[in-house]
Amino acid sequence: MEALKNYKFWFCTGSQDLYGDECLAHVAEHSKIIVEHLNQSGLLPFEVVWKPTLITNELIRKTFNEANADDECAGVITWMHTFSPAKSWILGLQEYRKSLLHFHTQFNEEIPYDSIDMDFMNENQSAHGDREYGHIVSRMGIERKVICGFWKDEEVIREIASWMRTAIGVLESSHIRVVRVADNMRNVAVTEGDKVEAQIKFGWEIDAYPVNEIAKYVEDVAAGDISALTDEYYSKYRMIYDGRDEAEFRKHVEVQAGIEIGFEKFLKEKNYQAIVTHFGDLGSLKQLPGLAIQRLMEKGYGFGAEGDWKTAAMVRLMKLMTTGIKDAKGTTFFEDYTYNLVKGKEGILQAHMLEVCPTIAGDDISIKVLPLSMGNREDPARLVFTAKEGTGVATSLVDLGNRFRLIINEVDVKKAEKPMPKLPVATAFWTPRPSLKIGAESWILCGGAHHTAFSYDLTTEQMIDWADAMGIESVVIGNDTTIQGLKHELRWNSVYYR
Ligand code: MN
Repeated sequence: MEALKNYKFWFCTGSQDLYGDECLAHVAEHSKIIVEHLNQSGLLPFEVVWKPTLITNELIRKTFNEANADDECAGVITWMHTFSPAKSWILGLQEYRKSLLHFHTQFNEEIPYDSIDMDFMNENQSAHGDREYGHIVSRMGIERKVICGFWKDEEVIREIASWMRTAIGVLESSHIRVVRVADNMRNVAVTEGDKVEAQIKFGWEIDAYPVNEIAKYVEDVAAGDISALTDEYYSKYRMIYDGRDEAEFRKHVEVQAGIEIGFEKFLKEKNYQAIVTHFGDLGSLKQLPGLAIQRLMEKGYGFGAEGDWKTAAMVRLMKLMTTGIKDAKGTTFFEDYTYNLVKGKEGILQAHMLEVCPTIAGDDISIKVLPLSMGNREDPARLVFTAKEGTGVATSLVDLGNRFRLIINEVDVKKAEKPMPKLPVATAFWTPRPSLKIGAESWILCGGAHHTAFSYDLTTEQMIDWADAMGIESVVIGNDTTIQGLKHELRWNSVYYR
Protein backbone atom coordinates (compact mmCIF):
# COMPACT_ATOMS: atom_id res chain seq x y z
CA MET A 1 0.00 0.00 0.00
CA GLU A 2 1.33 3.41 -0.88
CA ALA A 3 2.81 5.22 2.11
CA LEU A 4 0.85 7.92 3.84
CA LYS A 5 2.21 11.46 3.95
CA ASN A 6 4.74 12.10 6.67
CA TYR A 7 1.97 13.10 9.04
CA LYS A 8 2.66 14.91 12.29
CA PHE A 9 0.55 16.09 15.19
CA TRP A 10 1.11 19.47 16.80
CA PHE A 11 1.28 19.79 20.57
CA CYS A 12 -0.05 23.14 21.75
CA THR A 13 0.10 24.13 25.39
CA GLY A 14 -2.14 26.85 26.74
CA SER A 15 -1.34 29.38 29.43
CA GLN A 16 -1.51 33.15 30.04
CA ASP A 17 0.91 35.94 30.97
CA LEU A 18 -0.37 36.55 34.53
CA TYR A 19 2.05 34.08 36.05
CA GLY A 20 5.29 35.83 35.12
CA ASP A 21 8.20 34.75 32.94
CA GLU A 22 9.59 32.13 35.29
CA CYS A 23 6.34 30.23 35.36
CA LEU A 24 5.97 30.47 31.57
CA ALA A 25 9.50 29.15 31.18
CA HIS A 26 8.48 26.13 33.27
CA VAL A 27 5.33 25.63 31.19
CA ALA A 28 7.38 25.54 27.99
CA GLU A 29 9.98 23.26 29.52
CA HIS A 30 7.36 20.84 30.83
CA SER A 31 5.51 20.59 27.54
CA LYS A 32 8.82 19.98 25.73
CA ILE A 33 9.60 17.13 28.11
CA ILE A 34 6.15 15.61 27.53
CA VAL A 35 6.49 15.84 23.74
CA GLU A 36 9.92 14.27 23.89
CA HIS A 37 8.63 11.44 26.04
CA LEU A 38 5.68 10.78 23.74
CA ASN A 39 7.98 10.63 20.72
CA GLN A 40 10.45 8.34 22.45
CA SER A 41 7.79 5.99 23.78
CA GLY A 42 7.77 4.03 20.54
CA LEU A 43 4.00 3.74 20.96
CA LEU A 44 2.85 6.52 18.64
CA PRO A 45 2.46 5.92 14.90
CA PHE A 46 3.21 9.57 14.10
CA GLU A 47 5.53 12.26 15.41
CA VAL A 48 4.38 14.91 17.85
CA VAL A 49 5.70 18.42 17.19
CA TRP A 50 6.13 20.88 20.04
CA LYS A 51 4.75 24.38 19.50
CA PRO A 52 5.45 27.54 21.54
CA THR A 53 3.03 28.15 24.41
CA LEU A 54 -0.24 29.75 23.33
CA ILE A 55 -1.13 32.74 25.44
CA THR A 56 -2.78 35.31 23.17
CA ASN A 57 -5.81 35.33 20.89
CA GLU A 58 -3.60 36.31 17.94
CA LEU A 59 -1.10 33.52 18.40
CA ILE A 60 -3.82 30.90 18.96
CA ARG A 61 -5.62 31.96 15.78
CA LYS A 62 -2.38 32.03 13.79
CA THR A 63 -1.29 28.61 15.04
CA PHE A 64 -4.60 26.93 14.18
CA ASN A 65 -4.57 28.47 10.72
CA GLU A 66 -1.02 27.26 10.16
CA ALA A 67 -2.16 23.79 11.21
CA ASN A 68 -4.96 23.98 8.60
CA ALA A 69 -2.52 25.01 5.88
CA ASP A 70 0.23 22.50 6.69
CA ASP A 71 -0.36 19.37 4.56
CA GLU A 72 1.64 17.25 6.97
CA CYS A 73 -0.23 18.35 10.09
CA ALA A 74 -2.94 15.75 10.74
CA GLY A 75 -4.28 17.20 13.97
CA VAL A 76 -3.62 19.33 17.03
CA ILE A 77 -3.21 18.14 20.60
CA THR A 78 -4.09 20.79 23.18
CA TRP A 79 -3.29 20.91 26.87
CA MET A 80 -3.80 23.74 29.37
CA HIS A 81 -0.80 23.55 31.68
CA THR A 82 -2.10 26.47 33.69
CA PHE A 83 -5.15 28.64 33.24
CA SER A 84 -5.79 29.99 29.76
CA PRO A 85 -8.88 32.19 29.53
CA ALA A 86 -10.99 30.35 27.01
CA LYS A 87 -12.36 33.36 25.15
CA SER A 88 -8.83 33.60 23.73
CA TRP A 89 -9.45 30.32 21.93
CA ILE A 90 -12.74 31.18 20.22
CA LEU A 91 -11.45 32.58 16.94
CA GLY A 92 -8.73 30.00 16.52
CA LEU A 93 -11.10 27.11 17.21
CA GLN A 94 -13.72 28.59 14.89
CA GLU A 95 -11.26 28.60 12.03
CA TYR A 96 -9.64 25.24 12.75
CA ARG A 97 -10.72 22.36 10.48
CA LYS A 98 -8.68 19.27 11.44
CA SER A 99 -8.94 16.76 14.30
CA LEU A 100 -8.59 18.05 17.84
CA LEU A 101 -7.42 16.15 20.90
CA HIS A 102 -7.77 17.63 24.34
CA PHE A 103 -5.08 15.87 26.35
CA HIS A 104 -6.13 16.36 29.96
CA THR A 105 -2.89 15.61 31.78
CA GLN A 106 -0.62 17.18 34.38
CA PHE A 107 3.16 17.47 34.50
CA ASN A 108 3.54 16.05 38.01
CA GLU A 109 2.01 12.69 38.75
CA GLU A 110 1.62 13.02 42.51
CA ILE A 111 0.71 15.91 44.76
CA PRO A 112 4.00 16.88 46.57
CA TYR A 113 2.36 16.79 49.97
CA ASP A 114 5.34 17.97 51.98
CA SER A 115 6.35 20.90 49.84
CA ILE A 116 3.23 22.07 48.04
CA ASP A 117 2.61 25.82 48.33
CA MET A 118 0.58 28.43 46.42
CA ASP A 119 3.28 28.88 43.77
CA PHE A 120 3.28 25.18 42.97
CA MET A 121 -0.51 25.10 42.81
CA ASN A 122 -0.66 28.11 40.50
CA GLU A 123 1.87 26.56 38.18
CA ASN A 124 0.27 23.10 38.03
CA GLN A 125 -3.39 23.68 37.58
CA SER A 126 -4.54 21.77 34.50
CA ALA A 127 -7.41 20.42 36.64
CA HIS A 128 -8.59 24.02 36.56
CA GLY A 129 -7.33 25.32 33.20
CA ASP A 130 -8.47 22.29 31.19
CA ARG A 131 -12.01 22.75 32.52
CA GLU A 132 -12.12 26.36 31.33
CA TYR A 133 -10.88 25.29 27.90
CA GLY A 134 -13.18 22.25 27.75
CA HIS A 135 -16.13 24.54 28.45
CA ILE A 136 -15.57 26.69 25.39
CA VAL A 137 -15.04 23.71 23.07
CA SER A 138 -18.30 22.20 24.32
CA ARG A 139 -20.14 25.51 24.11
CA MET A 140 -18.98 25.91 20.51
CA GLY A 141 -20.19 22.39 19.71
CA ILE A 142 -16.81 21.31 18.32
CA GLU A 143 -16.11 17.58 17.97
CA ARG A 144 -12.96 16.62 19.81
CA LYS A 145 -11.48 13.72 21.69
CA VAL A 146 -10.76 14.11 25.40
CA ILE A 147 -8.14 11.80 26.91
CA CYS A 148 -7.41 12.07 30.63
CA GLY A 149 -4.40 10.56 32.34
CA PHE A 150 -0.72 10.87 33.23
CA TRP A 151 1.47 11.44 30.17
CA LYS A 152 3.91 8.64 31.08
CA ASP A 153 1.16 6.04 31.43
CA GLU A 154 1.54 3.61 28.52
CA GLU A 155 -2.18 2.99 28.38
CA VAL A 156 -2.78 6.72 27.97
CA ILE A 157 -0.15 6.97 25.23
CA ARG A 158 -1.81 4.05 23.45
CA GLU A 159 -5.10 5.95 23.57
CA ILE A 160 -3.36 8.87 21.86
CA ALA A 161 -1.97 6.46 19.26
CA SER A 162 -5.44 5.11 18.59
CA TRP A 163 -6.86 8.64 18.24
CA MET A 164 -4.08 9.52 15.78
CA ARG A 165 -5.29 6.74 13.47
CA THR A 166 -8.84 8.09 13.65
CA ALA A 167 -7.52 11.55 12.81
CA ILE A 168 -5.77 10.08 9.76
CA GLY A 169 -9.12 8.54 8.74
CA VAL A 170 -10.79 11.93 9.08
CA LEU A 171 -8.14 13.71 7.04
CA GLU A 172 -7.65 11.02 4.38
CA SER A 173 -11.40 10.49 3.89
CA SER A 174 -11.55 13.56 1.67
CA HIS A 175 -8.86 12.14 -0.62
CA ILE A 176 -10.75 8.93 -1.40
CA ARG A 177 -11.86 8.56 -5.02
CA VAL A 178 -13.98 5.57 -5.98
CA VAL A 179 -14.34 4.39 -9.56
CA ARG A 180 -17.54 2.61 -10.55
CA VAL A 181 -17.15 0.43 -13.62
CA ALA A 182 -20.65 -0.90 -13.07
CA ASP A 183 -23.78 0.53 -11.53
CA ASN A 184 -25.57 -0.74 -8.46
CA MET A 185 -27.07 -4.19 -8.95
CA ARG A 186 -30.58 -3.90 -10.34
CA ASN A 187 -33.32 -3.65 -7.68
CA VAL A 188 -30.90 -3.92 -4.75
CA ALA A 189 -31.60 -1.25 -2.11
CA VAL A 190 -28.94 -1.37 0.57
CA THR A 191 -25.94 -0.82 -1.72
CA GLU A 192 -27.54 2.37 -3.11
CA GLY A 193 -26.99 5.82 -1.70
CA ASP A 194 -26.69 9.54 -2.24
CA LYS A 195 -23.29 10.19 -3.82
CA VAL A 196 -23.58 13.95 -3.51
CA GLU A 197 -24.30 13.67 0.21
CA ALA A 198 -21.37 11.25 0.56
CA GLN A 199 -19.09 13.87 -0.96
CA ILE A 200 -20.47 16.57 1.34
CA LYS A 201 -20.19 14.38 4.46
CA PHE A 202 -17.07 12.30 3.77
CA GLY A 203 -15.34 14.08 0.90
CA TRP A 204 -15.54 11.00 -1.33
CA GLU A 205 -15.48 11.47 -5.10
CA ILE A 206 -17.44 8.69 -6.78
CA ASP A 207 -17.25 8.51 -10.57
CA ALA A 208 -18.55 6.12 -13.21
CA TYR A 209 -16.76 4.82 -16.32
CA PRO A 210 -18.01 2.43 -19.00
CA VAL A 211 -16.59 -0.98 -18.10
CA ASN A 212 -14.96 -1.34 -21.51
CA GLU A 213 -12.71 1.65 -20.80
CA ILE A 214 -11.01 -0.28 -18.03
CA ALA A 215 -11.26 -3.53 -20.05
CA LYS A 216 -9.18 -1.80 -22.76
CA TYR A 217 -6.37 -1.32 -20.22
CA VAL A 218 -6.54 -5.05 -19.53
CA GLU A 219 -6.41 -5.94 -23.25
CA ASP A 220 -3.34 -3.71 -23.67
CA VAL A 221 -1.24 -5.45 -21.00
CA ALA A 222 1.91 -6.98 -22.53
CA ALA A 223 2.11 -10.78 -22.62
CA GLY A 224 5.51 -10.68 -20.89
CA ASP A 225 4.09 -8.71 -17.95
CA ILE A 226 1.24 -11.19 -17.60
CA SER A 227 3.63 -14.09 -17.65
CA ALA A 228 5.91 -12.50 -15.03
CA LEU A 229 3.03 -11.77 -12.65
CA THR A 230 1.63 -15.27 -13.15
CA ASP A 231 5.05 -16.68 -12.24
CA GLU A 232 4.89 -14.60 -9.07
CA TYR A 233 1.48 -16.09 -8.24
CA TYR A 234 2.89 -19.57 -8.80
CA SER A 235 5.79 -18.90 -6.47
CA LYS A 236 3.60 -17.35 -3.77
CA TYR A 237 0.48 -19.50 -3.74
CA ARG A 238 -0.35 -23.19 -3.93
CA MET A 239 -2.16 -24.31 -7.07
CA ILE A 240 -5.07 -26.67 -6.55
CA TYR A 241 -5.81 -28.17 -9.94
CA ASP A 242 -8.79 -30.33 -8.94
CA GLY A 243 -8.15 -32.51 -11.98
CA ARG A 244 -7.92 -29.61 -14.43
CA ASP A 245 -5.28 -29.65 -17.13
CA GLU A 246 -2.32 -27.64 -15.79
CA ALA A 247 -1.74 -25.62 -18.95
CA GLU A 248 -5.43 -24.76 -19.25
CA PHE A 249 -5.45 -23.85 -15.52
CA ARG A 250 -2.56 -21.44 -16.05
CA LYS A 251 -4.40 -19.70 -18.90
CA HIS A 252 -7.25 -18.92 -16.49
CA VAL A 253 -4.82 -17.57 -13.90
CA GLU A 254 -3.14 -15.42 -16.57
CA VAL A 255 -6.45 -13.69 -17.27
CA GLN A 256 -6.54 -12.49 -13.66
CA ALA A 257 -2.90 -11.35 -13.86
CA GLY A 258 -3.86 -9.24 -16.87
CA ILE A 259 -6.81 -7.79 -14.96
CA GLU A 260 -4.64 -6.96 -11.95
CA ILE A 261 -2.07 -5.12 -14.07
CA GLY A 262 -4.64 -3.38 -16.30
CA PHE A 263 -6.90 -2.31 -13.43
CA GLU A 264 -4.00 -1.01 -11.36
CA LYS A 265 -2.69 1.04 -14.29
CA PHE A 266 -6.15 2.53 -14.80
CA LEU A 267 -6.56 3.31 -11.09
CA LYS A 268 -3.12 4.90 -10.83
CA GLU A 269 -3.42 6.94 -14.03
CA LYS A 270 -6.81 8.30 -13.06
CA ASN A 271 -6.06 8.62 -9.35
CA TYR A 272 -8.65 6.27 -7.86
CA GLN A 273 -8.06 4.35 -4.63
CA ALA A 274 -11.20 2.22 -4.59
CA ILE A 275 -13.22 0.34 -7.19
CA VAL A 276 -16.58 -1.35 -7.57
CA THR A 277 -17.43 -4.08 -10.06
CA HIS A 278 -20.56 -6.10 -10.84
CA PHE A 279 -20.66 -9.72 -12.00
CA GLY A 280 -23.49 -8.86 -14.39
CA ASP A 281 -21.71 -5.99 -16.15
CA LEU A 282 -18.29 -7.14 -17.29
CA GLY A 283 -18.14 -5.82 -20.86
CA SER A 284 -15.27 -7.47 -22.69
CA LEU A 285 -13.58 -8.78 -19.53
CA LYS A 286 -13.13 -12.53 -19.84
CA GLN A 287 -13.61 -13.34 -16.16
CA LEU A 288 -15.16 -11.71 -13.13
CA PRO A 289 -12.19 -9.97 -11.45
CA GLY A 290 -11.48 -12.29 -8.53
CA LEU A 291 -7.84 -12.99 -7.77
CA ALA A 292 -7.08 -9.58 -9.36
CA ILE A 293 -9.38 -7.71 -6.96
CA GLN A 294 -8.07 -9.73 -4.02
CA ARG A 295 -4.53 -8.66 -4.87
CA LEU A 296 -5.55 -5.02 -5.33
CA MET A 297 -7.24 -5.04 -1.92
CA GLU A 298 -4.04 -6.48 -0.46
CA LYS A 299 -2.19 -3.50 -1.96
CA GLY A 300 -4.55 -1.13 -0.14
CA TYR A 301 -7.30 -0.43 -2.65
CA GLY A 302 -10.90 -0.33 -1.47
CA PHE A 303 -13.42 -2.67 -3.06
CA GLY A 304 -17.16 -3.17 -3.12
CA ALA A 305 -19.01 -5.76 -5.19
CA GLU A 306 -22.21 -5.26 -7.20
CA GLY A 307 -21.74 -1.52 -7.40
CA ASP A 308 -21.39 -1.05 -3.64
CA TRP A 309 -19.37 2.18 -3.56
CA LYS A 310 -20.10 2.88 0.12
CA THR A 311 -18.39 -0.33 1.24
CA ALA A 312 -15.56 0.20 -1.28
CA ALA A 313 -14.80 3.60 0.24
CA MET A 314 -15.06 2.21 3.79
CA VAL A 315 -12.61 -0.60 3.00
CA ARG A 316 -10.15 1.96 1.62
CA LEU A 317 -10.66 4.24 4.62
CA MET A 318 -10.17 1.45 7.14
CA LYS A 319 -7.05 0.26 5.34
CA LEU A 320 -5.64 3.80 5.56
CA MET A 321 -6.42 3.97 9.28
CA THR A 322 -4.43 0.77 9.84
CA THR A 323 -1.40 1.76 7.73
CA GLY A 324 1.88 0.76 9.30
CA ILE A 325 0.44 -1.21 12.22
CA LYS A 326 3.02 -3.75 13.25
CA ASP A 327 1.66 -7.31 12.94
CA ALA A 328 -1.61 -6.03 11.45
CA LYS A 329 -4.11 -8.87 10.99
CA GLY A 330 -5.99 -7.45 8.04
CA THR A 331 -8.90 -5.51 6.62
CA THR A 332 -11.33 -6.64 3.92
CA PHE A 333 -14.65 -6.46 2.13
CA PHE A 334 -17.00 -9.24 3.27
CA GLU A 335 -20.51 -10.55 2.86
CA ASP A 336 -22.77 -12.35 5.34
CA TYR A 337 -23.68 -15.63 3.67
CA THR A 338 -24.78 -18.62 5.75
CA TYR A 339 -25.62 -19.21 9.41
CA ASN A 340 -24.73 -22.01 11.74
CA LEU A 341 -27.69 -22.07 14.15
CA VAL A 342 -26.60 -25.08 16.22
CA LYS A 343 -26.82 -24.14 19.92
CA GLY A 344 -23.44 -23.27 21.35
CA LYS A 345 -21.84 -23.15 17.89
CA GLU A 346 -23.70 -20.18 16.43
CA GLY A 347 -22.01 -18.03 13.84
CA ILE A 348 -22.07 -16.49 10.38
CA LEU A 349 -20.04 -17.78 7.46
CA GLN A 350 -18.47 -14.77 5.75
CA ALA A 351 -17.36 -14.98 2.15
CA HIS A 352 -18.09 -13.52 -1.26
CA MET A 353 -18.29 -14.86 -4.76
CA LEU A 354 -14.50 -14.34 -4.92
CA GLU A 355 -13.40 -11.01 -3.56
CA VAL A 356 -11.96 -11.32 -0.04
CA CYS A 357 -8.66 -9.62 0.86
CA PRO A 358 -5.78 -12.02 1.60
CA THR A 359 -4.45 -9.75 4.39
CA ILE A 360 -6.85 -11.63 6.71
CA ALA A 361 -5.62 -15.10 5.72
CA GLY A 362 -4.76 -17.33 8.66
CA ASP A 363 -3.45 -20.28 6.71
CA ASP A 364 -1.94 -21.14 3.32
CA ILE A 365 -3.34 -19.31 0.35
CA SER A 366 -4.24 -21.42 -2.69
CA ILE A 367 -5.44 -20.65 -6.17
CA LYS A 368 -8.45 -22.47 -7.57
CA VAL A 369 -10.19 -22.17 -10.93
CA LEU A 370 -13.86 -23.04 -10.89
CA PRO A 371 -17.11 -21.95 -12.51
CA LEU A 372 -19.30 -19.30 -10.88
CA SER A 373 -22.93 -20.07 -10.48
CA MET A 374 -23.74 -16.50 -11.60
CA GLY A 375 -22.71 -14.38 -14.58
CA ASN A 376 -21.75 -15.60 -18.03
CA ARG A 377 -17.98 -15.61 -18.17
CA GLU A 378 -15.07 -18.06 -18.09
CA ASP A 379 -14.28 -19.87 -14.84
CA PRO A 380 -12.39 -17.30 -12.76
CA ALA A 381 -9.23 -17.90 -10.76
CA ARG A 382 -9.44 -16.92 -7.11
CA LEU A 383 -7.39 -17.02 -3.90
CA VAL A 384 -8.78 -19.44 -1.34
CA PHE A 385 -8.00 -19.37 2.39
CA THR A 386 -9.61 -19.12 5.80
CA ALA A 387 -9.33 -16.12 8.08
CA LYS A 388 -7.28 -15.69 11.24
CA GLU A 389 -8.96 -16.12 14.59
CA GLY A 390 -9.48 -12.97 16.63
CA THR A 391 -11.72 -10.04 17.43
CA GLY A 392 -12.62 -7.41 14.89
CA VAL A 393 -15.14 -4.82 13.84
CA ALA A 394 -17.63 -5.37 11.03
CA THR A 395 -19.02 -2.09 9.75
CA SER A 396 -21.84 -1.21 7.41
CA LEU A 397 -22.55 2.30 6.16
CA VAL A 398 -26.16 2.66 5.07
CA ASP A 399 -28.12 5.55 3.58
CA LEU A 400 -31.46 5.97 5.36
CA GLY A 401 -32.73 8.59 2.95
CA ASN A 402 -32.23 11.57 5.24
CA ARG A 403 -28.91 10.54 6.75
CA PHE A 404 -26.07 8.03 6.80
CA ARG A 405 -25.79 5.50 9.62
CA LEU A 406 -22.60 3.59 10.44
CA ILE A 407 -23.33 0.25 12.10
CA ILE A 408 -20.41 -1.19 14.05
CA ASN A 409 -20.57 -4.78 15.26
CA GLU A 410 -17.85 -6.37 17.35
CA VAL A 411 -17.33 -9.94 16.16
CA ASP A 412 -15.21 -12.90 17.22
CA VAL A 413 -13.66 -14.75 14.30
CA LYS A 414 -13.29 -18.43 15.09
CA LYS A 415 -11.91 -21.51 13.48
CA ALA A 416 -14.75 -23.15 11.56
CA GLU A 417 -15.77 -26.39 13.20
CA LYS A 418 -14.87 -28.44 10.14
CA PRO A 419 -13.12 -27.80 6.83
CA MET A 420 -15.33 -27.02 3.83
CA PRO A 421 -13.45 -28.76 1.01
CA LYS A 422 -16.12 -28.13 -1.59
CA LEU A 423 -16.35 -24.37 -0.97
CA PRO A 424 -13.88 -22.72 -3.38
CA VAL A 425 -13.75 -19.24 -1.82
CA ALA A 426 -12.03 -17.43 1.04
CA THR A 427 -14.06 -17.51 4.25
CA ALA A 428 -14.27 -16.42 7.85
CA PHE A 429 -16.59 -17.79 10.50
CA TRP A 430 -17.59 -15.31 13.16
CA THR A 431 -19.97 -14.88 16.03
CA PRO A 432 -21.29 -11.36 16.41
CA ARG A 433 -21.39 -9.89 19.91
CA PRO A 434 -23.24 -10.17 22.19
CA SER A 435 -24.54 -13.36 20.51
CA LEU A 436 -25.66 -14.44 17.07
CA LYS A 437 -29.29 -13.99 18.09
CA ILE A 438 -29.07 -10.48 19.54
CA GLY A 439 -26.32 -9.42 17.12
CA ALA A 440 -28.28 -10.42 14.02
CA GLU A 441 -31.59 -9.07 15.37
CA SER A 442 -29.88 -5.76 16.14
CA TRP A 443 -28.14 -5.60 12.77
CA ILE A 444 -31.46 -6.08 11.00
CA LEU A 445 -33.23 -3.49 13.18
CA CYS A 446 -30.45 -1.03 12.29
CA GLY A 447 -30.95 -1.67 8.57
CA GLY A 448 -27.39 -2.99 8.16
CA ALA A 449 -26.29 -4.37 4.79
CA HIS A 450 -25.15 -7.86 3.80
CA HIS A 451 -21.83 -6.29 2.76
CA THR A 452 -19.36 -5.14 5.40
CA ALA A 453 -15.99 -3.48 5.70
CA PHE A 454 -14.18 -5.59 8.29
CA SER A 455 -10.94 -5.10 10.21
CA TYR A 456 -9.11 -6.89 13.00
CA ASP A 457 -6.93 -3.83 13.54
CA LEU A 458 -9.44 -1.12 14.39
CA THR A 459 -11.60 -0.66 17.46
CA THR A 460 -15.23 0.28 17.97
CA GLU A 461 -14.06 3.49 19.63
CA GLN A 462 -12.04 4.53 16.58
CA MET A 463 -14.99 3.93 14.27
CA ILE A 464 -17.39 5.86 16.55
CA ASP A 465 -14.93 8.75 16.75
CA TRP A 466 -14.61 8.77 12.97
CA ALA A 467 -18.41 8.84 12.54
CA ASP A 468 -18.68 11.64 15.12
CA ALA A 469 -16.06 13.66 13.25
CA MET A 470 -18.02 13.16 10.02
CA GLY A 471 -21.22 14.26 11.75
CA ILE A 472 -23.09 11.02 11.09
CA GLU A 473 -24.97 8.57 13.26
CA SER A 474 -23.15 5.52 14.55
CA VAL A 475 -24.75 2.54 16.27
CA VAL A 476 -22.67 -0.03 18.13
CA ILE A 477 -23.70 -3.65 18.49
CA GLY A 478 -21.51 -5.21 21.17
CA ASN A 479 -21.41 -6.88 24.55
CA ASP A 480 -23.70 -4.31 26.15
CA THR A 481 -26.39 -4.39 23.46
CA THR A 482 -29.95 -5.27 24.37
CA ILE A 483 -32.80 -5.19 21.87
CA GLN A 484 -34.88 -2.85 24.00
CA GLY A 485 -31.96 -0.49 24.54
CA LEU A 486 -31.09 -0.52 20.86
CA LYS A 487 -34.66 0.27 19.81
CA HIS A 488 -34.70 3.25 22.15
CA GLU A 489 -31.37 4.43 20.79
CA LEU A 490 -32.58 4.22 17.20
CA ARG A 491 -35.72 6.20 18.07
CA TRP A 492 -33.73 8.89 19.88
CA ASN A 493 -31.18 9.03 17.08
CA SER A 494 -33.96 9.55 14.54
CA VAL A 495 -34.86 12.78 16.31
CA TYR A 496 -31.27 13.95 16.73
CA TYR A 497 -29.99 13.17 13.23
CA ARG A 498 -32.29 14.88 10.74
MN1 MN B 1 -22.26 -9.25 -2.68
